[in-house]
Amino acid sequence: MRKNVIAGNWKMNKVLSEANQFVEDVAKKAPESDRVETIVCAPFPFLPSLVEKAKGSSVKISAQNMHFENNGAFTGEVSPVMLNDLGVTHVVLGHSERREYFAETNETVNKKTHAAFNHDLVPIICVGETLEQREANETMNHVENQVTEALKGLTNEQVTQTIIAYEPIWAIGTGKTATSEEANEVCTHIRNVVKGITSDEIAEKVVIQYGGSVKPANVDELLAQSDIDGALVGGASLEADSFLQLVEAGTK
Ligand code: PGA
Repeated sequence: MRKNVIAGNWKMNKVLSEANQFVEDVAKKAPESDRVETIVCAPFPFLPSLVEKAKGSSVKISAQNMHFENNGAFTGEVSPVMLNDLGVTHVVLGHSERREYFAETNETVNKKTHAAFNHDLVPIICVGETLEQREANETMNHVENQVTEALKGLTNEQVTQTIIAYEPIWAIGTGKTATSEEANEVCTHIRNVVKGITSDEIAEKVVIQYGGSVKPANVDELLAQSDIDGALVGGASLEADSFLQLVEAGTK
């Protein structure tokens, strides 16, 4: 049975003291359950401190982006070598905000995915359609293309470890959630795409999260769906209490 992975994506929020306090609280209270994995995706400056705070607990610390090169003349960038050296275990790649505002493409997401695996980082690859694409019935093709391009050239073993987050852009930060059936339909399609690239057995192991206005009030229904294995959460991950409620839901 697949685990639920509950990942809080803080985006560009908090200062160090708030970040430390949050991880201290969550590390103390996060349930030790093999049904759920708890991840905090934090801004770069907080990562070393949060890795220390999370030590000995079930909480894992993730970056929200990285470059695909190991080092070099890339002013302002952070490399997979640096993240791995800090004890970071995961990295979010291709979030729609990075695709929209920072020129992230399927090609760079694929390069970053390979770089993540080369440095022992688990990629959380985000895919999802705009409202226009949904209304034009392009959701399935668009998401299929994003997933296929992101996974290009990976070994089956690497695909097994990859986390895919389906996040319809129109549901991010808007309070509009896809209905659990709508979300599951796309997650099932993603699993079928992974099946086509690898095998039934591998596709059954891949964790597929839903993201987009997930909160304590709707998480149970989403997690009850056949192909949704957790959530990537923005707004509702900023307060420890609501984040812990989501993690708790993941243990069921
Ligand atoms: P939201 O963000 O939960 O605030 O909609 C989700 C995300 O962008 O990962």
